[in-house]
Amino acid sequence: MKIANRGLFSEEANQEAKEKVNDPLHVFDTQGRNKREIGYESTQAYFGMTLPPNKDSKDVTTDIKQDILSMDKSNFTMKYILKHLKLGDFEKIENQNEFNDIVVLEKGDYPGIKKETETTVGRLLVNQILFSPLSIEYPYQNNAFGDGALDYNLNYIGSKVLSKDLPMEEYKALLKRVEDFGLRMSSVVAPSLDIDMIDLDDEIKEMRDELIEENREAIENGDTDVISEIEDKLLDEVKQKYKDNPQMELYLSGGKPYLDNSYKKNSIMIGAIPADLNGNKFHISTNNLVDGIDKSDIHKVSGAMILGAYFRGIKTASGGYLAKQGIAMAQSIKAGKHGTDCGTNEYRTINVTENNKENYIDAYMVGSSGELTLLTYDNIDEYVGQEIDIRYPEGCVSEKICNKCMGERYYKLLDEYEDDIDVGLFISKILTELSTSGSTVLTQCKNFINLFRVSQNMWG
Ligand SMILES: [Zn+2]
Repeated sequence: MKIANRGLFSEEANQEAKEKVNDPLHVFDTQGRNKREIGYESTQAYFGMTLPPNKDSKDVTTDIKQDILSMDKSNFTMKYILKHLKLGDFEKIENQNEFNDIVVLEKGDYPGIKKETETTVGRLLVNQILFSPLSIEYPYQNNAFGDGALDYNLNYIGSKVLSKDLPMEEYKALLKRVEDFGLRMSSVVAPSLDIDMIDLDDEIKEMRDELIEENREAIENGDTDVISEIEDKLLDEVKQKYKDNPQMELYLSGGKPYLDNSYKKNSIMIGAIPADLNGNKFHISTNNLVDGIDKSDIHKVSGAMILGAYFRGIKTASGGYLAKQGIAMAQSIKAGKHGTDCGTNEYRTINVTENNKENYIDAYMVGSSGELTLLTYDNIDEYVGQEIDIRYPEGCVSEKICNKCMGERYYKLLDEYEDDIDVGLFISKILTELSTSGSTVLTQCKNFINLFRVSQNMWG
């Protein structure tokens, strides 16, 4: 007899499950950021499509611009992009336009465009397909989507879901569009590695062999400083040598693989390998995976695999124990109702940078006369490069941490504005999710550290 999963649950349980799918914690992590990871292939495709014009880029006709501007998302088929716009490089379809050909947008062509602005066909397509269908007005994104730019856009738009300015369904549709369009375009725009780059350039090989010879003793002694210096030198050469090679997009797009890890181990050298359980002793292998591992180095490389298995197995138990302690510690922490303010004069001074600005979203900034301003994606850029004062949980003087010291994030993530917030329960939920998702020790530790940040030191 066949029993559908659905049949096992009551109607109420089904209803509850349906609602849970739109629960903010299902889509956002404890930092309020999108946790539906975008695939590396898509990430690379967006980077390739949004590259700046180069010396060969030409101006496209205003017809093409108007054509793209007048399309809605259902019309952007592959046939339209490849055949009609003549983009992409296929044997059967000769491309006449490049993604980084120049389009000039006039004032009013697009939200956020206030004056004549040079952009590219690829950027216009990406904006039209991803962001234009949103019911909120989203300003034109005129930059290359490398190094986390796509993630930042998604986190920004996600903050509109948490502030209830955008329905969750729309956000999930956006995430689906990002993945669908990115994956489809990946075969058209994302160059894969070929032998030119996989088989390291002869000059760099020569330089590598000289450096190894000069530092033979330090390498044999497992000196990690020396080997990382050598690796950095060689990686600089690689970056310089292949800078105009489209294959470098694979490494520059901000997805995986990484130049200083995957490429280095494959084509330059494996480098330092932990040789004991405490991370105090290292073996160094100057072999790489493309040329193969010498007999004399096999014990070093295989040792790393055993060590990996050890950490995944034995250390998971220790990680679990730490997590239990963390939960016990957090049980007693409660946050007061939405709108509470203990009125403390205690604040923390922080230096907002381009790299850390997202950490302070949803915290309250203290102004010179004590007035509070909520930090959001819309105003945080005004404070980059400045020192500001913020309220923070440990600075709270009430028994339950007040809303102003706690910030807004938990209230939004839990969609709880009427009652106290049980921080301990919230944290247990995150840790339970972790232990059931089979995550590695490393992720558990990372989240454990986050847990302390969340409960004790939320904004720093
Ligand atoms: Zn307080």
